[in-house]
Amino acid sequence: MDIDSKSIKIIKAKYWKNGWIDSSKRNLSDSDAEHLSIHHWNLGSAKLSHDQIIGDVVSKSRNVSLKECAALLSQSLSTRKVQDRSFISSVAQAVNMPNHSHTENGPCPICGLYKESEIDQDVLLFEKLMWGGVRLTQIEYVWFDLKLMNRNNLQEANCEDLIHLVMDFEKRNDKLSASKFAASLKEVKGNKSEREILCSILGVCSILQHPEHTGFLMQYWPANERQLPNQHFIDLAWPYCWYNSSFGINKNALETLTNK
Ligand SMILES: [Zn+2]
Repeated sequence: MDIDSKSIKIIKAKYWKNGWIDSSKRNLSDSDAEHLSIHHWNLGSAKLSHDQIIGDVVSKSRNVSLKECAALLSQSLSTRKVQDRSFISSVAQAVNMPNHSHTENGPCPICGLYKESEIDQDVLLFEKLMWGGVRLTQIEYVWFDLKLMNRNNLQEANCEDLIHLVMDFEKRNDKLSASKFAASLKEVKGNKSEREILCSILGVCSILQHPEHTGFLMQYWPANERQLPNQHFIDLAWPYCWYNSSFGINKNALETLTNK
């Protein structure tokens, strides 16, 4: 995804200083606001109906190559361009999501959206630039990610770094919980949150999965069927929150994603 380094710096500084900056204090200087505006990164909020969002997600995900998205993830491992990582998990969900309508009150049983949504695109962009995305399985984020893909130069589909990383997981004999496994990945450049998001992306793509809580590569899991573990506090995305390193890797998923 093409974004200039100054825009990244401005966006990160708007939201984060040793923690989230209070919403009342997220002010930009005139020159920073102008810079974002010139580079079209002042995204604002988008008001859309459920059916518009789903229509966009379905249409934009068709004809996208999973292998090219896998290559972007792969290349991000050495460049630490975390913003390139989640396209693969967004596309994996979108291609299997049924086109559907929801006009009733309450959340949609399939995707979890209400009939009308106001999407804060700036905060989604910040989370994507900071950690590689956070709300990976929320359909608003999938919509946003697919929208950014149009501005993305998909590169030569080389997935070697990703294959190498994941195949090395196979050699381990540990039995670590999802959060401990992510924290143990010292071979991945970056901080704890970046590693957790990376693992969560691999979980959505079915590479790291619990046998009973599989990812989205072969089927779309309706929002109302995503059971959460019985823990007080869960900060990992579904279904990676269920993972344990004793389950190893799903080689078929890795092959499917890196060959298509
Ligand atoms: Zn829905």
